[in-house]
Amino acid sequence: MKPRKCGLCKGRLQKGKTEFTVKVEKTILSIKDVPAYVCQECGEAYFTPRISRKIDKVMKEFHEGRLLAYPIAAGEIRLEA
Ligand SMILES: [Zn+2]
Repeated sequence: MKPRKCGLCKGRLQKGKTEFTVKVEKTILSIKDVPAYVCQECGEAYFTPRISRKIDKVMKEFHEGRLLAYPIAAGEIRLEA
């Protein structure tokens, strides 16, 4: 199963790679070179179930401290309404 159209803007999806960033507890984990279908209009990335499972696995291993990750700088800010 692979996505054909963007669920947000109906844009065309093209096979490519993206960077997936997620917050695990108090740490930001950034996974690079994730194969994805990327919307050519808005940049939204879609993952196949196989890739989603891989991401889940990486997040789990990272959370359990079983993964050696390169530290990167991160900033957190509140958006003033
Ligand atoms: Zn889109």
